[in-house]
Amino acid sequence: MQTYSYYADGKWLEPANGEYFETENPYTGEAWAQIPRCNEKDVEIAVQAAYRAHHEGPWGRMNPSERGAMVRRLGDAVANHADRLAEIETRDNGKRRVDIHPGLTSWLIDSFYYYAGMADKLEGSVIPTGRDEILNYTRHEPFGVVAGITAWNSPLLIAIWKLAPALAAGNSIVLKPSEFASASTLELMKALEEADLPSGVINTITGFGAEAGEPLVTHERVRKISFTGSVEGGARVAGLAARSIKSVTMELGGKSPQLVFDDARLADTVHGVCGGIFPPAGQSCIAGSRLLLQAGIYDSFVEKLLEVAKRAKLGDPNDPHTSIGPIANKIHFDRVLGHIECARQSGATLACGGNAVNPGGATGWFIEPTIFTDVTPQMPLARDEVFGPVLAVMRFDTEEEALQMANDSNFGLAAGIWTEDHRRALNLANRLEAGTVYLNNYFDACTQSPVGGYKQSGYGRENGWEGMRDFLQTKSVWLSTAREIPPPF
Ligand code: NDP
Repeated sequence: MQTYSYYADGKWLEPANGEYFETENPYTGEAWAQIPRCNEKDVEIAVQAAYRAHHEGPWGRMNPSERGAMVRRLGDAVANHADRLAEIETRDNGKRRVDIHPGLTSWLIDSFYYYAGMADKLEGSVIPTGRDEILNYTRHEPFGVVAGITAWNSPLLIAIWKLAPALAAGNSIVLKPSEFASASTLELMKALEEADLPSGVINTITGFGAEAGEPLVTHERVRKISFTGSVEGGARVAGLAARSIKSVTMELGGKSPQLVFDDARLADTVHGVCGGIFPPAGQSCIAGSRLLLQAGIYDSFVEKLLEVAKRAKLGDPNDPHTSIGPIANKIHFDRVLGHIECARQSGATLACGGNAVNPGGATGWFIEPTIFTDVTPQMPLARDEVFGPVLAVMRFDTEEEALQMANDSNFGLAAGIWTEDHRRALNLANRLEAGTVYLNNYFDACTQSPVGGYKQSGYGRENGWEGMRDFLQTKSVWLSTAREIPPPF
């Protein structure tokens, strides 16, 4: 069994209390590595290192072009170690290997390259005050030490969405990955050492939310928190951060609707809808987990949907022919099965799936792609995030009804519209309460385009210029050229 250290101040360290916890491979269900169980003492080491790096070391004063060149080298380091990073991400959280490399890694590399190019373009403005003797201008400045707290479903992607803009903006960072999938973030630290950034600019502490996460959130030297996780976790973190008025970005859960109209192209739409939830076993924040079907195509669509869903091959996430991998951890596996049981009892019709399975004798945590029809808007399955391979199918008659049903949710992360009527598509895109809207596609994203939530799906944005702005604060500077300051009274 492999034993990891945590990473702070450019060093690999043992946890202060000497304790470790096991992490499991969801394909086999077996423990494969020991992860440091950090506490507030380790948080102190990491945050102080990050503080020194920003305030005393060269990082905070670095020429921005030079800083950009360093951030670009982080992208090169990910490229050099992409195979290893993909191997560990798959082993630790069960994500399909092909989805990480080459699927994801080019995106991770691009994130560093994209924000590297922004590092020396953070221009302020000269403000037209209307007063000749006054020069008022703005500067975009880093916060100093920022914390990045990440979820288990896509640890590398989520970490890099925070790392790249935070560093390019001139901050130093302490990451805290999920207790369920910390290994790939530690491997990322190993890879990034190759870029030779000053010590303390990047740090990763591991451990549990209450023991390692909370001391990080409440540490007085941390001035910004970028959090990705559940609504419950986000509410707790935002509450703690509010006590010392810290800036917070929240990337939280979703229950995203896919609206399919009678005129949609049937086969393409079925593929898009299935692809919008099942390949990551539903463990994506933007999974299109509510399917709203117009009455005229309801039956034919469901028939085709079942045909495609039943074709999915569950199995080894390392196998390029596997369509759906395991659920990432046992606790979540039990939670998803609980949602399925609850949906059964609330009167929805189980049209396919619903079972835990062991494809090819695998001993890990697999759940069949599951589709419930006859779901009504009041049922828990229509309202709660399952974060598993479970699709809730509902019926509507009119465009207005579809819109009302889609917006009838506490969440607002993403939405999909499938129709050949572009007037309708654009009109609905304007009226849907969601941070991302897909028209005749689903799941697209890129470094340049902002993502984030409406309503309880969060606030702030990642990716694009807005992702950079979340790691900057604006200073307004006033200079007077007046020869005299008149007496105030
Ligand atoms: P959690 O909220 O349970 O945990 C997220 C992170 O927060 C983990 O690192 C966790 O540590 C930490 N944490 C939990 N409690 C605290 C606390 N009190 N103080 C500090 N840190 C804390 O979410 P999950 O990991 O279960 O992630 C799944 C959720 O993430 C889903 O709802 C999903 O939709 C959402 N998500 C949102 C995305 C987006 O971009 N909007 C992207 C990906 C996922 P620990 O694991 O040790 O508890």
